[in-house]
Amino acid sequence: MQKNVEIAKECGFTNAGVLNVDTLIVKQEVRDMCEMNTCNKYGKNWACPPACGSLEDCGAKLKKYTKGIIVQTTRQLEDSMDFEGLEELEKDHRGNFKKAVDRFSEMYPGMLPLGAGTCSLCKECTYPDNECRFPNKRISSMEAFGLVVNEVCKANDLPYNYGPNTMTYIGCFLFE
Ligand code: SF4
Repeated sequence: MQKNVEIAKECGFTNAGVLNVDTLIVKQEVRDMCEMNTCNKYGKNWACPPACGSLEDCGAKLKKYTKGIIVQTTRQLEDSMDFEGLEELEKDHRGNFKKAVDRFSEMYPGMLPLGAGTCSLCKECTYPDNECRFPNKRISSMEAFGLVVNEVCKANDLPYNYGPNTMTYIGCFLFE
């Protein structure tokens, strides 16, 4: 996995680390937060709850994987109102993630990427009226799978917060 950590850094992530899959514990409290719909994506995307599967389904899916890495993109913002910086961070993280998906899917055809935020492969998601356009490419978030991201980072000795006025987007790649 150390090699995969290096590949992740080559893809542009500012930090990455080996993930012990035993630390992936799905929690109902995360689902409860999704249901509060503060992100306005609950029930609007095939990659988000409830369409991404029940908590039990997601937990069972995670159990298929034996190895993984965590990836992070951190940016120093000017202040808490630096929305331009936040947009750049999101763009950078998505770009890094896409590069890593391309690299790792060649090496591990059955790998599972879990990103940050909802699936944005299409300008508008087809949910719920039509089938997902890219069921093999859509990417759920770690939260959608019921994971508490800061706890997963902590359990794997990776920082979650890089200091005042920084923001970090986090994802992971799981390998069979
Ligand atoms: S691939 Fe398109 S249709 Fe499928 S979940 Fe993502 S945005 Fe929705």
